[in-house]
Amino acid sequence: MTTQMNRRVLVCGGAGFLGSNLCERLLGDGHEVLCADNFVTSDPRNIRHLTGHRRFKFIFHDILQPLDAEVDDIYNLACPASPVHYQADPVRTLITSVRGAHNMLRLAQRINARILQASTSEVYGDPAIHPQSEDYWGHVNPIGPRACYDEGKRCAETLFLDYHRQQGLRVMVARIFNTYGPRMQINDGRVVSNFIVQALSNGPITIYGDGSQTRSFCYVDDLIEGLLAFMDAPDEVTGPINLGNPHEVTVAELAKLIIELTGSRSRVVYRSLPHDDPTRRCPDIRLAKRYLHWRPQVSLNEGLKKTIDYFDRVLRDGAHTSAVDVIALRPVVASVSKT
Ligand code: UDP
Repeated sequence: MTTQMNRRVLVCGGAGFLGSNLCERLLGDGHEVLCADNFVTSDPRNIRHLTGHRRFKFIFHDILQPLDAEVDDIYNLACPASPVHYQADPVRTLITSVRGAHNMLRLAQRINARILQASTSEVYGDPAIHPQSEDYWGHVNPIGPRACYDEGKRCAETLFLDYHRQQGLRVMVARIFNTYGPRMQINDGRVVSNFIVQALSNGPITIYGDGSQTRSFCYVDDLIEGLLAFMDAPDEVTGPINLGNPHEVTVAELAKLIIELTGSRSRVVYRSLPHDDPTRRCPDIRLAKRYLHWRPQVSLNEGLKKTIDYFDRVLRDGAHTSAVDVIALRPVVASVSKT
């Protein structure tokens, strides 16, 4: 019998930014980890340091295909999350969000596992209320360029809650707001990684629009803590629950802060604002505080310093994934064995 202290955990998208940080933390907490990934937007180097670990297994897998595994808990983090990446192949993004979620739900039901869905603040679209609380239904353009992700994630939420109501499955839906930190890809395209990489190389900092749009940035360690707290919450806590840092800044303020912290000689340049770019975004985290006893601990200054150190190291080491990394990870297992 697996105890609470020693669980078998499947992390779909486990080689990604959030996934690899989650795998590392789960191993540190004594759990067995099965990491599934297809490396579409992730990087084998994110998990290379884990591959020798006796409680870590990797499977090269795309969640568009059904998966068989014997685990206690499932985290479904498998989907491109940066606008640049999720818009590169919008059909695949939408199908991954929906069919991928369905495949993982079917697995969870078959093996009676708990399953957590990484949903997103994008379900609120360009929000008309502020800050965004979970009872707000959102303001999403269903036919715009962001819809493949927004609507895909909204549909996945529906599937999760329907599996809960119809099948009694133990589900959790976490609405994740902008998160940053070590293991974001250098070419991720999101604002924090773009600005840091630009600042460290003294290149132009690209502000889209006039920089007055806001976001609220959560450091990755805080976010992971929130996911773990959610997985361990009482059965009736299904969510959706917002996970994010309610400290709201404008994109222009973020640029200024990153220039200061890096001591960069970069200048700011302005580029056109992407279509349907949300004007304001800030989570209401009262539910997370009440049900998960969670709140972020890391300030933006502190988190950015750690992230800048990370990118500084990556830029010095060279940023390219080698074929050897991928090949080294190919010998895989089909499942975590039943104990
Ligand atoms: N952004 C920017 N410059 C960049 C990348 C992004 O000004 O190089 C802006 C983008 O238009 C948005 C905000 O930063 O208003 C956050 O964008 P990101 O892609 O990080 O995530 P989003 O919250 O839009 O999903």
